[in-house]
Amino acid sequence: MRDMTLVTNSHQVNGAANIPLIPLTPEQELSTRVRLSQALQMSLDTGEILNLFYKHIQSLVNVSGLVFKFSDGSNVLKVGRECLHHCDYRLTTDEGYLGEIIFSRSKRFVEAELITLEFLLSSLIYPLRNSIRYQTAMRLALLDPLTMLGNRAALDTALRRELQMAERHKTPLSLLIIDVDFFKKINDEYGHNRGDMVLREIAKTIQSVCRGSDITFRYGGEEFVVVLGKTDSEGAKIIAERIRQQIAETPISHNGKMLNMTISVGIATYQGSPKEHVNEFFERADNALYLAKKSGRNCVVSADAITAVNS
Ligand code: GH3
Ligand code: MG
Ligand code: MG
Repeated sequence: MRDMTLVTNSHQVNGAANIPLIPLTPEQELSTRVRLSQALQMSLDTGEILNLFYKHIQSLVNVSGLVFKFSDGSNVLKVGRECLHHCDYRLTTDEGYLGEIIFSRSKRFVEAELITLEFLLSSLIYPLRNSIRYQTAMRLALLDPLTMLGNRAALDTALRRELQMAERHKTPLSLLIIDVDFFKKINDEYGHNRGDMVLREIAKTIQSVCRGSDITFRYGGEEFVVVLGKTDSEGAKIIAERIRQQIAETPISHNGKMLNMTISVGIATYQGSPKEHVNEFFERADNALYLAKKSGRNCVVSADAITAVNS
């Protein structure tokens, strides 16, 4: 593997048996750098930047595929087709390691091609770094740092999308609003840090009970929301009851003492028609939660039950 810093370096290639190609002339280098830089400035999407880079380098070096592995190991992006022969570069800027890029094709790379690739990589490195920074910032903007669940902004987007899907496919969609009971007492008695720890534990329990397709958010202080796709009212009640029970039956340990926590849950279900505004849908679940609190807490109330009583 080669290290690709901003100052390009060219190491010896092992076993390059092909006739070396002529590296780029200074004029070609300049026009290539201008063209590539212009093209790569068009996007802040890492996948798109790699696609553009792949397309633009084809006229200079024949590459069948490229793979980019993010430095934190979180993701791998692939463009084109992976082949037997490859050359790998660790991409580093003065701010640190960006990730690894692997070019591949069925024929071995020769030295002159590697020099050209390294030259081309020097135009990729900053647009790539900018896109990774941008996408990281976007991801963090949607995450709650305490629980690492999606935050309220993420919920807004997801709920709109899920409601549209439910309407289009005429499938049910359920929403749970979960509020921790008497949470203020935990802060008052044990301090804010312990309160934070309790919130993290509750978030974990909610997630452990939910299915992979359910999406959990931290809506606000001690309030969580679970979006249950393709789930009718009965299914939602079962999941909500399971969460409630699990939290009530799993005390959270604190300095050798056990803290018994409970939650109240409000449920609303959308049947797939008629059209309902996201705010109204949310409000139905919130009203159900209000009733759960009024009914003594540590319980689950469905908006369906309220409608049935009122009709
Ligand atoms: P109820 O059963 O009626 O829901 O009572 P409650 O005490 O849970 O509700 P209340 O709205 O009175 O209090 C919520 C508390 O949550 C108050 C606030 O200080 C605390 N809180 C909000 N966000 C955080 C947080 O991020 N960390 C901690 N530790 N506490 C928080
Ligand atoms: Mg609350
Ligand atoms: Mg509360």
